[in-house]
Amino acid sequence: MMDLVGELTVTRVRRLTPRMVRVSFAAPADFQPWPDQQLKLCFPPGDELVLPPSEGDDMRWYQAFLAIPEEKRPVMRGFTVRRHDPARGEIDIDFVLHGAAGPAVRWARTAAPGQVLGRYGPSEYYRRPLPPGDWHLLAGDATAIPAIGSLLESLPGSARALVFISAADELPLPSPATVDIRWLPGTPLLDAVRAASFPAGAVSAWLAGEAGVVRSLRCHLVGERSVPKGAIEFTGYWRRRLTQDDAPTAEDMADAQEKLAQARGEV
Ligand SMILES: Cc1cc2nc3c(=O)[nH]c(=O)nc-3n(C[C@H](O)[C@H](O)[C@H](O)COP(=O)(O)OP(=O)(O)OC[C@H]3O[C@@H](n4cnc5c(N)ncnc54)[C@H](O)[C@@H]3O)c2cc1C
Repeated sequence: MMDLVGELTVTRVRRLTPRMVRVSFAAPADFQPWPDQQLKLCFPPGDELVLPPSEGDDMRWYQAFLAIPEEKRPVMRGFTVRRHDPARGEIDIDFVLHGAAGPAVRWARTAAPGQVLGRYGPSEYYRRPLPPGDWHLLAGDATAIPAIGSLLESLPGSARALVFISAADELPLPSPATVDIRWLPGTPLLDAVRAASFPAGAVSAWLAGEAGVVRSLRCHLVGERSVPKGAIEFTGYWRRRLTQDDAPTAEDMADAQEKLAQARGEV
């Protein structure tokens, strides 16, 4: 079984669009891919990568991570494995070069073969199948493109998906399913989803991107479209004006409680 904690060495770097860079890393041994596969990347502050060994328990490992002296502690950020290429022994991670440029984006701008990051995950614990439904609604911003791309590839040929992506640059997102992708370079996601007529049948929704936007989309689906909460998989990927190191807000805590209830099958 793959160790939850390890190093990732860059093998290749390519620009996919003016605002997105694909970084390939040597795949960890025994890597098992799945769609919408999340992991934490750890960006060392200097040349030395310090990470505690895997504890088999997320919280215990995180406590050990926080105990690393601040000047040596890596910056941790959430990312998605876009693709696993077993023939080349690589995994790809696509970085959005957003304008606010935190540590992850600063690293990605100058990433080069041979550089080493740390990783925590991917962990089966965060593996979430799409909710059941007659058709799929996938909505997110540019940071959700890697997850949406992997989800679309995983759908069977009989599936139908309506996809909303608020991003300046389009990318090919192949799928065996029947897919209608609406690229929204200017229109807010909520406006586009609210204005859309939905296909008949039960929707299986997947939402990711800026946390406030994800919240408003979920609110719209539950409140105005009567979609059951259990039919909506949602994740706030980033927060406007806050870094991933900033403390959770009351709204973040409420979202986390809802996700926990959903994971336990209570909604
Ligand atoms: C499960 C998960 C999967 C993710 N997958 C991906 C992925 O595959 N590719 C990807 O690029 N991102 C992905 N993200 C989002 C990524 O982790 C965040 O965008 C992260 O904040 C980037 O780190 P940073 O160090 O550049 O910025 P931070 O230091 O976290 O933030 C610095 C500033 O940048 C702003 N900011 C952060 N992200 C954005 C953005 N996208 N657009 C505009 N402003 C922003 C913040 O509001 C803050 O003001 C994912 C997040 C999660 C939780």
